Amino acid sequence: MSNLRFKALEIAQSRQALPVAPPAERVVDFYGVNTFNQEVMRSLLSPEAYLKITQAIETGGKIDREIADEVANAMKSWAIARGATHYTHWFQPLTGDTAEKHDAFFDITMEGKALEKFKGSALVQQEPDASSFPSGGLRNTFEARGYTGWDPGSPAFLMDNGAGGKTLCIPSVFISYTGEALDYKTPLLKALHALDKSATAVCQFFDRHVTKVTATLGPEQEYFLVDKALFYARPDLVMAGRTVFGHSPARGQQLEDHYFGTIPPRVNAFMVDFEFEAMKLGIPVRTRHNEVAPAQFEVAPTFEEVNLSIDHNALLMDLMEKVAEKHNLKVLFHEKPFAGINGSGKHNNWSMGTDTGVNLLAPSTKPKESLRFLTFLVNVVKAVHDNADLLRATIASAGNEYRLGANEAPPAIVSVFLGETLTQALEDLENKSEISLNKGDNVYYKLGINRIPALLRDNTDRNRTSPFAFTGNKFEFRAVGGGANSASTMIVLNSIVADQLARFKVELDKRLNGGEKKELAIVDILKQYYKECKRILFEGNGYSDEWVEEAARRGLSNINSTPEALAIYVKPDSLDLFQRVGVMNHREVESRYEIELEKYVKKVQIESRVIGDLAMNHVVSTALKYQNKLAETAKALIDIGMKEEAEPIKDIIREISTRLVAIKSGVEQMTEARKRANTVGDMAEMARLYATEIKNFFEQIRYEVDKLELIIDDEDWPLVKYREMLFIK
Ligand code: ADP
Ligand code: MG
Repeated sequence: MSNLRFKALEIAQSRQALPVAPPAERVVDFYGVNTFNQEVMRSLLSPEAYLKITQAIETGGKIDREIADEVANAMKSWAIARGATHYTHWFQPLTGDTAEKHDAFFDITMEGKALEKFKGSALVQQEPDASSFPSGGLRNTFEARGYTGWDPGSPAFLMDNGAGGKTLCIPSVFISYTGEALDYKTPLLKALHALDKSATAVCQFFDRHVTKVTATLGPEQEYFLVDKALFYARPDLVMAGRTVFGHSPARGQQLEDHYFGTIPPRVNAFMVDFEFEAMKLGIPVRTRHNEVAPAQFEVAPTFEEVNLSIDHNALLMDLMEKVAEKHNLKVLFHEKPFAGINGSGKHNNWSMGTDTGVNLLAPSTKPKESLRFLTFLVNVVKAVHDNADLLRATIASAGNEYRLGANEAPPAIVSVFLGETLTQALEDLENKSEISLNKGDNVYYKLGINRIPALLRDNTDRNRTSPFAFTGNKFEFRAVGGGANSASTMIVLNSIVADQLARFKVELDKRLNGGEKKELAIVDILKQYYKECKRILFEGNGYSDEWVEEAARRGLSNINSTPEALAIYVKPDSLDLFQRVGVMNHREVESRYEIELEKYVKKVQIESRVIGDLAMNHVVSTALKYQNKLAETAKALIDIGMKEEAEPIKDIIREISTRLVAIKSGVEQMTEARKRANTVGDMAEMARLYATEIKNFFEQIRYEVDKLELIIDDEDWPLVKYREMLFIK
């Protein structure tokens, strides 16, 4: 058989789980061995240098040249002793991938001798040139230089390149010659700093000892696995990361028997293997399980400080891809690789913690702490309510478009789930209209605030259909795409909460200056906030049609199109917000918008081309051959006088013809639409055309192709089928 599909299937079916051995007997013996972490620094640096570095990590203070030289030296010796030959500034450009440019540690002296070299200046700053990374107009060619700068808040680590030794990777920011951000990390660090400032100030109303608030993130990463041979037999997976055609298998996810089921041996070996590698890099991977869809899985690390967590997620994704190769698997992070079954998200569990050890979103048994909890909770809800569209913009991408607002996915409405107990507590808060305090009265008892924690402890409410759900001691933003860098969302979430908390403080200060009692003033403001934003609270089924109607009645946005969602970034309100919290200036936001639009256009363009190519060169040609076979059969039947028996065959031939005509005309019209769109100069308009006029053909063509898949002889069908890809041993 010359059919690539059958060759691939034969290879895939013969594969076995690989044996995997732990790097050492106990996890503590290999956890973090490949990171230049605080412990290593303490042992290698002078006490002064170590102190300076830890201060810089905690407060973002400056590191002077001498200290940098000392750290660079220690880093170099540590890395070389462990087999490193090169170093690189490791950063996250707006392409969505991670980037690195390796430089050798050795240099040649004037006498031609090789010398190991890595100075503090090389640690602190690099000029990778990298002029072909997207800058959205921030860099003109005459000042095309981009600089990377060390982020001491995220430990340097060693990456094994397979052949050719190891590379010391130094987590870095990436900025332009003029100091503007070209990456995700730069504005993220600023947003986290803004949150720290505002949240700490609000904490001080409750506890003077709090001097720092750290935002925390625990990203649950969903993904699919496909056998490598099958992957390469599907040009759409190779080019676009998703299948553009494929009929649903008889057994999809309707039985939900895959969820938390026994992990297939090949997959288990892969998971254990990448988890070992992750742990060596200090990534605290903790849980693994099957997801709802067949061949879908999840990995969830323990939460960490947001910046570190995002670096770790990016690194983990890279690692998973590398380790998968070894196991002859391919990881799909795409938000919707297969139609008809669940897509993949990256659930962002987010909270805020103080340097006194308090999780600000954890209810407490003490009434006073309960009021603090309510203060942070309501301020978060208010921030999400007031900036729902901007939050929606952060999850807009070509891939996530199939997951949000498409015909078989949750709608793109931002709502918040709090659970019955908390909602009731807030209702009570709102409805206790006038509270006056007599001597001896206790505001907490009067408001029932003292009851909340006791009730919450047994509160097991979970809502898997809410995009932004309170889950007991944190919020879970579930709409982030599986392939996305969470930084986009974290930049906005932390910025809007920082901004909101700052407003709250201004308001509270005003009232306190006017002589109001603190607790009463706080309660009064929260009451007001709750009134203003309660329409965003929703406890029901977020995937239902009723919710779409109800949300429209409530006046909540439901922005389905990616270009429309992205445009929110550059609305005056958004630009002002980013400026106000000191996260991005207008130019930086505008450049990001341009880049996202361009990414969207390119992705849809690739998909459109893949659809055209597969439809014409694989599907149509196969269908014609099959039609020919059928015609010969029919003719043979007629020749021997079985005219009637030839009729059903002729029906099939007719159906194939009708579908072929539809496919051909669909592809032609789509190609024409693409040509028209490509001549439009304006990127926003081009993206709009791709989102509508071009994408409109995707479903239409797919429908016909998937029908042909059911008609044409299995032996002839060229593309690996869903049922063959989705069930791994
Ligand atoms: P479950 O939701 O299954 O009960 P957990 O609550 O332990 O499990 O954690 C779910 C996810 O939430 C994990 O990825 C975890 O890292 C994350 N998480 C837990 N606490 C926090 C927190 N304070 N901040 C951010 N993420 C958190
Ligand atoms: Mg999950």
